[in-house]
Amino acid sequence: MKKIAVMTSGGDAPGMNAAIRAVVRYAVRNDIQVLGIQRGYAGLLDEDFIEMDFASVGGIMEKGGTILRSSRCPEFVRKETRQEAAKILAKHGVEGLIVIGGEGSLHGAMFLEEEQKVPVVGIPGTIDNDIAMTDMSIGVDTCLNTVVDAIQKLKDTASSHERAFIVEVMGRSSGYIATVAGLVTGAEAIVIPEIPVNYEALGNKILKERERGKINCIVVVAEGAASAYTVARHLEHRIGYETRITILGHIQRGGSPTAFDRLLASRMGVAAVEFLKRGTSYVMTALQGGKIVPVKLDEVLKQKKSLNMELVELTALLS
Ligand code: ATP
Repeated sequence: MKKIAVMTSGGDAPGMNAAIRAVVRYAVRNDIQVLGIQRGYAGLLDEDFIEMDFASVGGIMEKGGTILRSSRCPEFVRKETRQEAAKILAKHGVEGLIVIGGEGSLHGAMFLEEEQKVPVVGIPGTIDNDIAMTDMSIGVDTCLNTVVDAIQKLKDTASSHERAFIVEVMGRSSGYIATVAGLVTGAEAIVIPEIPVNYEALGNKILKERERGKINCIVVVAEGAASAYTVARHLEHRIGYETRITILGHIQRGGSPTAFDRLLASRMGVAAVEFLKRGTSYVMTALQGGKIVPVKLDEVLKQKKSLNMELVELTALLS
């Protein structure tokens, strides 16, 4: 293998740069040239490429976002567009493609190999932790730490003013961030897509906590379950005191990646190049039982990652 390409696609996640760095440096050490594709699938179609070498990825590990930038490219769902993309890659002598991104991006990669025979390896990079068959995706740990830090700050002001704070966090289809953040900050309750919300019970729980003498109250809401405004509207008349809403939004995507994410990204980046080198493609790098292993893309993408309900029980048990 003489030349590969790497891209980041979909929503950015902290740690993507560490993955790019690992891909480039491990490839260069193995005498493989690396083409960086800027702006995901849109950049691939525009031939927005840069040659990458050992030095070009210096000083990027600690940076949030992605130096290759990212995009959404709706036309990539069309087979003809992917055919065009494969032709472009062949024209540039690319023998393998590494795609760092979430479920949508991995779908695009899967189809590129299935139909167009472009050898691909996916690296799970998304803050949602909604990708199956891997214990963690790159960016989840950093996002969690950002959310925990924000909730901790809100708890200070919630205690001072004896208010209830409704905090909306990311998680379109997964309550993972809300659950773990709720668990480790001692939030009163979590509202997640996996469990239908019972406002009556939620209101009663908050009132009981107050009777018990607790002066702050935090409810963590995953965006996919309800909006913080809806939760606040349902709760205010039940608990009889003021609520305050905080939507963390895109702040959760940014920031310098944690040591965990840097390590995971470095290991996955190296593994992705190694898989391509060995002729193992149509796979995603997955963290399973502490090891980085290849898992088939079609198997990953036909599954929905389910939330570990023990975490939800633990949250309820300890709050
Ligand atoms: P995140 O979930 O973290 O935002 P993602 O990779 O899932 O990341 P999407 O916007 O779903 O983000 O997908 C990114 C890009 O991948 C899309 O803009 C499109 O170019 C491509 N893509 C998504 N779904 C498909 C699909 N079914 N077939 C081919 N390409 C797809």
